[in-house]
Amino acid sequence: MSIRPIVTLGDPRLRLVGERVTRFDKELGRLLDDMVDTMRDAPGVGLAAQQIGLALQLFVIEVEGQVHELANPRILHLDGEDTDFEGCLSIPGFFAERSRAGFAVVEGQNRRGRAVRVSGGGVLARAIQHEFDHLQGELYVDRLPPGTELVTVDRLREESTDGEEDLARSA
Ligand code: ZN
Repeated sequence: MSIRPIVTLGDPRLRLVGERVTRFDKELGRLLDDMVDTMRDAPGVGLAAQQIGLALQLFVIEVEGQVHELANPRILHLDGEDTDFEGCLSIPGFFAERSRAGFAVVEGQNRRGRAVRVSGGGVLARAIQHEFDHLQGELYVDRLPPGTELVTVDRLREESTDGEEDLARSA
């Protein structure tokens, strides 16, 4: 297992649409282990293959101690609306208020190729949508309403009444 360098804004690899994962072998398992290590080291709540420079339909999420690994995900259902600060490990140091569905259901495959379904609200729903967008070559800043300000992590920390752990929501 190892920590891989995270690709940042401006790198064209972030804009590549991921190809489907077709081989569920040991190599995929090692890659997923590296992605989890890299996400935790950052630290973040999610990481997509594009963020380590690979154009694959593959992401990991860790919310409330639960790790989710998804290959070839499809969003089955989105519901409600939630506006909150969102950040991206590939745009380090910044956050912006972004509106997302408040509840998400996604289906994909785990490292063994088995079908898995993940559903949830709050940070998990946001992470699912954020990572899914990465797999299409999209970044959260692409769809901010005009006039939305990027806020630095320092300013967010000063203004926030949330606990420190609530600020570590980049993905
Ligand atoms: Zn991101």
